[in-house]
Amino acid sequence: MEDLIKRAARDIVEAKKVVALTGSGMSAESGIPTFRDQGGFWEKYNPEVYAHIDVFFSQPEKPWQMVKAFDQQLKAKPNPGHLALAEIEKMGFLKEIITQNVDSLHQQAGSTEVIEFHGNLRRGVCLVCGKYYEWGKISLEVLPPRCECNGILKPDAVFFGEQIPEEAFQRSYEASRKCKLMLVIGTSAIVYPAAGIPQVAKQAGAVVVEINPEKTPLTNFISDYSIIGKAGIILPEIVRELKRLA
Ligand code: NAD
Repeated sequence: MEDLIKRAARDIVEAKKVVALTGSGMSAESGIPTFRDQGGFWEKYNPEVYAHIDVFFSQPEKPWQMVKAFDQQLKAKPNPGHLALAEIEKMGFLKEIITQNVDSLHQQAGSTEVIEFHGNLRRGVCLVCGKYYEWGKISLEVLPPRCECNGILKPDAVFFGEQIPEEAFQRSYEASRKCKLMLVIGTSAIVYPAAGIPQVAKQAGAVVVEINPEKTPLTNFISDYSIIGKAGIILPEIVRELKRLA
């Protein structure tokens, strides 16, 4: 494992243009359960019910109940993995993070180039006038929350039954084609189209490095190598090694 961490740091220095694809495992050490975690939050708030676009149109308060619980229960803060990625950006290597997460934790950690592939649960958008509401500006006392124009707000995440926003999709694929190394962190790589992103990078000639405590469909097929472990442990170790190489 130590050898792979050193190898990853050397490859990052050589590549210079690095992009990270992150999934829910990235935020697991912040206390947000992944879909694959048994029991708990997502069983109570099954996203295919609470975050399905048809449910939103028939019962718009339902997704907001999930958002309210997501916020109240979790009060999550960025973990050492998020902070390490922000540091790799500051060092000049990491150009973009493509995240499937909807929790804002990369931005809270200080990352500035974040593509939200599945939107953001902690932002609202008015379906009538299109106005966006940042977190803290939305009162969840009466659900569903409404815009000042009285239109109903939708959580600005991509719901089941919705398309990936065009801009996020295009930006992600462009970043993947241009990068020289892709870090694939904490994703089971089974939710498409996000799961196809490492293959785009690979076909364009990038080195693909996976960080995950478990194997995924990418392991041994798309990934050049996998560092088996938690993001909150492996990424700070890579940062330490990058500093040593600097
Ligand atoms: P997933 O639940 O399918 O898979 C999670 C992956 O993370 C697994 O491969 C697991 O082995 C790995 N993992 C668990 N702990 C880890 C750790 N400490 N460090 C590194 N990896 C770890 O997640 P997915 O592939 O992101 O796909 C599910 C969908 O669920 C995504 O679209 C995502 O938007 C959504 N989701 C988001 C959040 C969030 O915003 N935090 C939480 C749950 C689900």
